[in-house]
Amino acid sequence: MNDTLSRRVLVLNRLWQAVNIVGVKRALSLLMQEHAQVIDTSDGNFNILDAGQWIDYSLANPPRCDSEAIHTIRLRLRLPHVMLLRQYDKVPTKEVKFNRQNVFERDGYECQYCGGHFHEHDLNLDHIIPRDMGGRTTWENIVTSCIKCNTRKANRLPHQAGMHLKRKPDRPRYRPFVQSVPMDEREDEWTSFLK
Ligand SMILES: [Zn+2]
Repeated sequence: MNDTLSRRVLVLNRLWQAVNIVGVKRALSLLMQEHAQVIDTSDGNFNILDAGQWIDYSLANPPRCDSEAIHTIRLRLRLPHVMLLRQYDKVPTKEVKFNRQNVFERDGYECQYCGGHFHEHDLNLDHIIPRDMGGRTTWENIVTSCIKCNTRKANRLPHQAGMHLKRKPDRPRYRPFVQSVPMDEREDEWTSFLK
């Protein structure tokens, strides 16, 4: 066991689209079970290597430092950075999770009643149809509201409070996996695959 086990490996589908990020253990298991191959770019080319080839390559080109090595019982393997799945053609997309932050993002941190832009600390989630009228907590019934508008609307329907929505809220579109990988978590070796 060493620190490399906390490193992460980018996984591409057969169309070379990034679909996941896995830990080193999972990556090795994908490799050894022949579910995936390593894409090595250390010489500037995209070299695709299966488990046997990766072992040979690791023996011929031993990892230069421990942070680039995975120690198994018998050998010291190079740490892969990117893997290519052998099967799996689908491009999984990530459903945007319903939460406070993502509602604010959908609405651009704009109060959907007065149109003002606020810091998230000064924003609330408003049930368009109030909960006690049966309104549900869904993308379609929740909007970003400033505290003032939220208080003014209280437990009423917008028109009862003389208020109007800026736009009809709906469920945000699915976010491709690539966009969900935060910039500061991307490794240099992933750059060519995350465009
Ligand atoms: Zn407002």
